[in-house]
Amino acid sequence: MVPFPPVSEKKRIAVIPGDGIGKEVIPEALKVISAAGADVETTQFDWGADRFLSDGVSVPPGGFALLERDFDAILVGAFGDPRVSSNLHAKQILLGMRFQMDLYANIRPARLLDAGLCPLKGVEPKDLDFVVLRENTEGLYTDAGGVFKQDTADEIAVQEDINTRKGVERIIRYAFEYCRHHSKGDGSRRQRVLMCDKSNAMTHAGGLWQRVFREVSREFPQLRAEHMYVDALCMQMVRDPRQFDVIVTNNLFGDIITDLAAGLAGGLGMAASANIHPGKTSMFEPVHGSAPLIAGKNMANPLGAILTAAMMLHHLGLTRAANQLEDAVLDAVRQKKTTPDLGGTLGTREVGEWVADRIMRGGA
Ligand code: ATP
Repeated sequence: MVPFPPVSEKKRIAVIPGDGIGKEVIPEALKVISAAGADVETTQFDWGADRFLSDGVSVPPGGFALLERDFDAILVGAFGDPRVSSNLHAKQILLGMRFQMDLYANIRPARLLDAGLCPLKGVEPKDLDFVVLRENTEGLYTDAGGVFKQDTADEIAVQEDINTRKGVERIIRYAFEYCRHHSKGDGSRRQRVLMCDKSNAMTHAGGLWQRVFREVSREFPQLRAEHMYVDALCMQMVRDPRQFDVIVTNNLFGDIITDLAAGLAGGLGMAASANIHPGKTSMFEPVHGSAPLIAGKNMANPLGAILTAAMMLHHLGLTRAANQLEDAVLDAVRQKKTTPDLGGTLGTREVGEWVADRIMRGGA
């Protein structure tokens, strides 16, 4: 019998560095992926402000379909450029990917790697290790609504908050499943899912979230279901971050509370995220934006992008390489081989090289 030719096991990754510091941190993430010997093949895309300004194209026709068809994952840098004041290309690429590819679960871990990175007194790494699951395709981000009588004294602006039962139910169920299948950084089990809303004021949308949360939580009797209003949650996150495990919330609150969480765990330069639709091509991006003020200065912290790459490798089943990346980042933080935002003296490239070298020397 003639055997079938061997099928390539290589995972195919579409890489879109984008704008600003995205173009600096993504090459460092690729450098460390390669140092870990991860079995991947990458293809670069030039989507971003430069291309948009030269030919008016943000996403070429069929671009999202191509990503879904030909790639296992997408690694993205950041979008936003002062030359594009409308930010149109960024919206079309980033929100386009999330909405059109239906990447409904935005996973944003908040894990403190070193006590020195937390602005709170007496908070140790074991005290701050939670994950926010942000609904990524609905809410106030669909741009439903409009402006009437613009630029007159009678101007009216309406921004609709879209919440569908399907959308709310799938992100809440995802949060419980996530909690059931993931452990904390110290290996202990995750056990609690907290839903965060503002249902005391936003009664229609909040009511839907409340009802669905109660229903779905009954399917997971082994996990604890909790609730907090978003204002109280912000206060509690600063007062005692120990109490959080898995948080599920809507698009807007997820965006806001994850910046707060990032601030507690080393800043935006450290924060990683994944945009998932189970079973489909998913997208991975650091939480920070293009940070034009520090772009091009070799100052941007690449660790958030490297941790994002680790999330992607975990998702692709390349666990060994993912763990190597995470361990090396931990070492970089402990040994202060970092950019100035974390108190170090290295540049973006030097941090990337240190992490890659740490992996290649082994021990990470
Ligand atoms: P966006 O609106 O897309 O979030 P932005 O430029 O307003 O973009 P960020 O890009 O997230 O916001 O950055 C805000 C500030 O945080 C930056 O000006 C910079 O000081 C800091 N920052 C963000 N990312 C990093 C990073 N990787 N390394 C160092 N500092 C960072």
